[in-house]
Amino acid sequence: MDVAPAPIPRPLTDGRLVDGQGRAIRYLRISVTDRCDLRCRYCMAEEMTFLPRSALLALEEIALIAERFVARGVTKIRLTGGEPLVRRDAMDLARRLGRMVGAGLDELTLTTNGTRLADHAQALADAGVQRINVSLDSRDPELFRFVTRHGDVAQVLNGIEAARAAGLRVKINMVALKGLNDAEIPAMLDWAAQEDMDLTLIETMPLGRIEGDRADRFVPLTTVLDALRQRFDLAPDRHDSGGPARYWRVGGSGTRLGLISPLTGNFCATCNRVRLTTEGKLYSCLGHDDHVDLRAAIRDGGLAAVDEAIDAALGAKPARHEFDVTRGAGPAVARHMSVTGG
Ligand code: SAM
Ligand code: SF4
Repeated sequence: MDVAPAPIPRPLTDGRLVDGQGRAIRYLRISVTDRCDLRCRYCMAEEMTFLPRSALLALEEIALIAERFVARGVTKIRLTGGEPLVRRDAMDLARRLGRMVGAGLDELTLTTNGTRLADHAQALADAGVQRINVSLDSRDPELFRFVTRHGDVAQVLNGIEAARAAGLRVKINMVALKGLNDAEIPAMLDWAAQEDMDLTLIETMPLGRIEGDRADRFVPLTTVLDALRQRFDLAPDRHDSGGPARYWRVGGSGTRLGLISPLTGNFCATCNRVRLTTEGKLYSCLGHDDHVDLRAAIRDGGLAAVDEAIDAALGAKPARHEFDVTRGAGPAVARHMSVTGG
């Protein structure tokens, strides 16, 4: 794979990314693979069909598209998936995109399940990554194994340790699941505060078919917050990560608690992001099927066609998602979160 340095496009003075609702788009999420070494029950079905490798964007194509977004005003890129660190050339991509940090890009970051983090933490830091999100739905080995269908929590904890030793700031992502890990949320926040990490809680979203009905595991974060306030001194925080989370400062610590509650607190009015899948589809909304095909654009018409397709996607970006996790509602879209990039 050719990863030779290419000239970084100069930021344009026009052509900025503004969607049909007037929202400025500054954040690109890239799903570098739809594959994963875990099978979290709320995310994937046990048996999944993954994309054939021939359908994937080459690293060079991802990099060119990402560079185009930065030239047009994107300041933050997150590598995600699937599990980004299972793609063989993921670190080459991180190094390539890392060259834009400080040269148009404010932040290159990553969301990972942590299973391979111990091997890659230092290289991520060397590539210019400063903060990462690590998903950890339970610190209890048995519960972790159950939720992920076979994961080993020790690998993730080692990965977190390695990341911090490499100087990366780690935020923990935890999807709240009724009857599974909801009772563990206060202990997770205690641990995060002790370890000086931030914790973000996430409501389960109806994306793709899984075994069972997500409604059975849905926990509204409004009730979680009420319960946490009985135990922790939580003060609203104005921190803006450019994301959908609402933040709270945890008294007596430097920890921030984030709540991503698409069901109980819609945040679409401030949405600033779009998502590129590993096969080159650009989705302007996690909860809708509208997309443009950047793989076809870059192969058939080069960057000019990419620009045109991006503009079309932004013009059609829906005002909001229509998630519903009431019993029997089913997925809002057939795509799993792992395809679009969480
Ligand atoms: N594999 C990596 C990981 O687990 O961190 C990155 C991809 S994963 C799709 C990104 C985030 O989405 C994780 O924090 C995961 O817990 C979350 N997630 C996956 N499916 C979800 C769903 N249906 N609803 C809410 N969050 C979900
Ligand atoms: Fe894999 Fe992440 Fe989905 Fe879990 S949440 S199955 S780790 S992509």
